[in-house]
Amino acid sequence: MSKQHQPGPGTQAVWAGEEKNLWWGATQVPVVHSVAFGYPDVDVWRDVALGRTPGHIYGRNTNPTVAAFENKVRILENAEASTSFASGMAAISNILFTLLSPGDRVVSVKDTYGGTNKVFLEFLPRFQVKVELCDTGNHEKIEAEIAKGCRILYLETPTNPTLKVVDIARLAKAAHQAGAIVVADNTFATPINQNPLALGADLVLHSATKYLGGHADALGGVVCGSKGLVEKIYHFREITGAALDPMAAYLLLRGMKTLHLRIRQQNESAGKIARFLAAQPEVSQVFYPGLESHQHHDVARRQMRGFGGMLSFMLKGGFDAVREFLPRLRYAHLAANLGAVETIAGPPATTSHVECTAEERAAMGIPEGLIRYSVGIEETEDLIADLQQALKK
Ligand SMILES: *Cc1c(COP(=O)(O)O)cnc(C)c1O
Repeated sequence: MSKQHQPGPGTQAVWAGEEKNLWWGATQVPVVHSVAFGYPDVDVWRDVALGRTPGHIYGRNTNPTVAAFENKVRILENAEASTSFASGMAAISNILFTLLSPGDRVVSVKDTYGGTNKVFLEFLPRFQVKVELCDTGNHEKIEAEIAKGCRILYLETPTNPTLKVVDIARLAKAAHQAGAIVVADNTFATPINQNPLALGADLVLHSATKYLGGHADALGGVVCGSKGLVEKIYHFREITGAALDPMAAYLLLRGMKTLHLRIRQQNESAGKIARFLAAQPEVSQVFYPGLESHQHHDVARRQMRGFGGMLSFMLKGGFDAVREFLPRLRYAHLAANLGAVETIAGPPATTSHVECTAEERAAMGIPEGLIRYSVGIEETEDLIADLQQALKK
């Protein structure tokens, strides 16, 4: 192998971030369940505490298992620095509360994750931060709002649950002209399908709870970006306390070793399932960025390597049809999460946007008759057969 050879994302998903953490010849990153780290020498201890020597002091700040997880994501997002959180929402709220001050303005889109939307509408205004939520597809309007001045442009793409796609490169350019920091939630795409930093974003975040972990057994969040920005966010998190637990970090690390395999399978299945659903008379609309009929298919093709494992669709019979259809699915958990090895289905009213009222969902353009379908890694044909029997009954 030549020195110049750059490993691909699959190799990095398996190896990255782990080499330095293998103790006593263990081939796997150990789960270090220790709240504090002791030093026999006060001077060494002080050097570690001051960040002059690498090491760990206290679990709310750093932990070796957690650090391995942070490094793996950082390398996959090709970033300078990263830090982690107890959940995706902890990542989002810590980023916003670190970077915003009273009088600041945030520009974002209407289709962000339900919890993010709550932070925008309920918490930030209490701290005199103004939030402008634009129609997600309307790039001209978003650019006009950015030009009025803002501290943060907050993007999420593809969005939850109607899979809209926003042009990161185009909007990042506008934001940088206005002196704003660009934050992108990359949970749906994962670093396998999309790297927002390469498209101009300053910070990329994930709910690691979803695809990164992939097994629906651990909560976590992570942010990657420049050292300067990430250090500020890390400092806010180490003081306010939303640290990732070492056991969760271990589960997320283990899940990430198969990230590329899962995402490839889910990309392929979701494309086939979207096409199948679009051809069914019982289905009135399918939302999937990989469909040529998708309103932002061109942008998706430009900025994504794969279209992801999330899709949503509407049944002709509205919410009553949804209520009957969902329990007939044999290979789907009816549950609130997404991005796992098992297929998961549910209406936004009980999943991503359970925090919102029916009026708020309507304002965000989320139909009550929508089904969000997170494609697992089961055989594609079995999932299609399952959907078919559930539709035809
Ligand atoms: C789930 C999710 C979040 C929140 O993550 P948690 O780990 O549940 O706190 C944020 N953004 C997106 C896109 C999500 O799907």
